[in-house]
Amino acid sequence: MRLENREVLAAIASLEVEHRTGVFLSEYTSLGIGGTTDLLLIRKHDSIPGLLRLLDDHRIAHKFLGGGSNLLVGDGELPWVVLQLTCLDPDVVLEGKFAHVDAAADLGRTVTYCAKHDLGGMEGLIGVPGTVGGALRMNAGAYGMQIGSYVREVKLYRAATRKIETLRGDQISFEYRHTSFAPDDMMLAVTLELPSKSYQEIIQGIRICNEKRRASQPLGQKSAGCIFKNPPGGSAGRMIDDLGLKGLSVGDARVSDRHANFFVNAGKASAKDMLSLIAEVRERVEKATE
Ligand SMILES: Cc1cc2nc3c(=O)[nH]c(=O)nc-3n(C[C@H](O)[C@H](O)[C@H](O)COP(=O)(O)OP(=O)(O)OC[C@H]3O[C@@H](n4cnc5c(N)ncnc54)[C@H](O)[C@@H]3O)c2cc1C
Repeated sequence: MRLENREVLAAIASLEVEHRTGVFLSEYTSLGIGGTTDLLLIRKHDSIPGLLRLLDDHRIAHKFLGGGSNLLVGDGELPWVVLQLTCLDPDVVLEGKFAHVDAAADLGRTVTYCAKHDLGGMEGLIGVPGTVGGALRMNAGAYGMQIGSYVREVKLYRAATRKIETLRGDQISFEYRHTSFAPDDMMLAVTLELPSKSYQEIIQGIRICNEKRRASQPLGQKSAGCIFKNPPGGSAGRMIDDLGLKGLSVGDARVSDRHANFFVNAGKASAKDMLSLIAEVRERVEKATE
């Protein structure tokens, strides 16, 4: 979608939001898949209520982009614009055992920054790409931990009230790759309460998690991490692997040879290819478990 209405463009500029026209979302996603649209880069949280009112008033559909590591974006010219936050400086401020983190902060750098100040707990998140906001939205986790366990406060733009508000951690439910945030809520910042640990101990934990990832995941290839959530008590990857589906392809979309729940873009896969592959695998697993 291209924003061409001069009144809208002038209002966007007055909100100090940067307008980039015709970006290729394939360059913004870890899968390397995605069509073109306009991108609005938000530099100040205060401009968000005005920006969203403007887009709604002009019926301009929008979606929110973090680091693009958990997204399968459609092909071709997209019927919505993309909003993305730029990172505040500094993006992490520590106060005792609390870390106040900007939603646009890189998750991995946040984990290592906290580690250097003897704050641990998030070792499992070290290989998870993307932003802290994206991790919050999905309650990202790995190796038995999830970010939601450490959340004490979230500053967010709430679509329901059209205001920037702060929620306490106990007002939010964090479940397995799911949170109680509304689909249009926008995470802006979070306060994490982290356990004190020595840097050496945290680094040791990080090394162990890194080794596990390196041993099991196709880290050099374009992916969005696991495609399917695990069923209760089970493993989606094992179910796919047991059916011998590693290597199954549609065009350049391929079930990884390394980890059957990672679907990779082995060349020039389109969203259509990836969706067909997902549908094919889902159907075969459903048939086998009927
Ligand atoms: C190699 C690899 C390994 C991975 N391993 C794991 C893993 O172990 N565990 C795990 O949980 N995930 C994993 N992932 C998936 C992904 O990295 C995480 O889910 C990550 O937290 C997504 O963050 P992001 O900023 O990239 O979000 P995006 O992909 O940009 O967005 C994901 C969703 O969150 C929304 N969103 C993003 N930022 C915000 C915000 N500030 N406010 C509101 N909504 C927002 C988007 O609109 C979208 O709906 C992996 C991915 C890859 C490529």
